[in-house]
Amino acid sequence: MTEEKIFERDEKNYLPVFKRYRIVLERGEGVYLYDVNGKKYLDFLAGIAVNVLGHNYQPLVKAISEQAAKVIHVSNLYYTQPQADAAAKLVALSGLDRVFFANSGAEANEGALKIARKFAKKFSADKTQIITAWNSFHGRTLATLTATGQPHYQEGLEPLPAGFEYVHFNDAAELAEKISDKTCAVMLEPIQGEGGVYPPKDEYLKKVRALCDKHGALLIFDEIQSGIGRSGKFFAYQKYGVKPDIVTLAKGLAGGVPIGAFCVTEEVAQAFKPGDHGTTFGGNPLACAAANVVLDTVPDEKFLAHVEEVGKYFKSRLIDLQKKYPAQIGEIRGEGLILGAQLTNPKRSGVEIVNECMKRGAIINCTVGTVLRFIPPLIITEAHVDELIKILDGVLGE
Ligand SMILES: *Cc1c(COP(=O)(O)O)cnc(C)c1O
Repeated sequence: MTEEKIFERDEKNYLPVFKRYRIVLERGEGVYLYDVNGKKYLDFLAGIAVNVLGHNYQPLVKAISEQAAKVIHVSNLYYTQPQADAAAKLVALSGLDRVFFANSGAEANEGALKIARKFAKKFSADKTQIITAWNSFHGRTLATLTATGQPHYQEGLEPLPAGFEYVHFNDAAELAEKISDKTCAVMLEPIQGEGGVYPPKDEYLKKVRALCDKHGALLIFDEIQSGIGRSGKFFAYQKYGVKPDIVTLAKGLAGGVPIGAFCVTEEVAQAFKPGDHGTTFGGNPLACAAANVVLDTVPDEKFLAHVEEVGKYFKSRLIDLQKKYPAQIGEIRGEGLILGAQLTNPKRSGVEIVNECMKRGAIINCTVGTVLRFIPPLIITEAHVDELIKILDGVLGE
């Protein structure tokens, strides 16, 4: 089928909720994707921080194929080794005590919010307030879009679940005013992703931890984007020396196979009894076999040191571009391989820059309309960074 035919077929039948770029992707190899015409693209989006090991990574393909030939799915009413292994690895990595597997980020967050509410009920019936940050992103289910501190995700969907309130990220004083003994949980992305790539300042997360402890509120870190090695540590919270009571993961966890997870302390885990939560697909043997490859690869010290190093190099090259094009690029933000470049030229939209890069063979992303966001496979090298910078330089210099 030709590209035009595929556009036409999709546009006639698929719910038009995405503003799609007009290419049809067919296959991938390493950090490159190919469209149906055979055109090659350097992939600095990685399916939105998903393909952490790149495309067609042989150990992952092998693990998925071998598991599919054994059994793809069994009910969570039974034990499987891939799930037992993946859970043990996440417990060891997180320093938390128990794991639940879901199918997506939103679902992982939904489960985290449910267990937090149930936990707080043990102390007081009105300990229900959940505080999240403006500009955050936590997913598209009714509870998680309510947790998301961006009103445009909520408009028209009212009535929204009750009990959610928002504070400005990086403003510990505002949180100190809002938090109380009625607060059930504070949920934050340690590094805001979708909202424009904002890392935490100074001792912000430590202050948040102290405030949660003072008021008996749980601290939930949404590491769906910042986790799985992206910051240079397996969990971004390890970078900031702050441990949450609950952490959520998804995106890169199975290298592209749909999965989500939340990890909790033993104390919090006690809030759920058999029957209180569940899932048909979540953590099935296929997804967990894929997750096991990621969990055997990314936490390796050398792997994480590579992310840190190539991330530093990438950031320095972005700062060079900022110096060359000060009228177009403002602040460069981020850690490891979650980097953002603030666009400052009102005459040139982010979408236009993304489209220009695509024409020249690079897939990048623009979030909140004005921030170029780079969340590539974690296996990129300095040569890939140079290739992207050259393309960006050409586009910005036009
Ligand atoms: C992507 C994302 C989600 C939602 O994940 P889905 O798999 O799309 O439901 C939640 N939180 C953060 C921080 C994310 O980046």
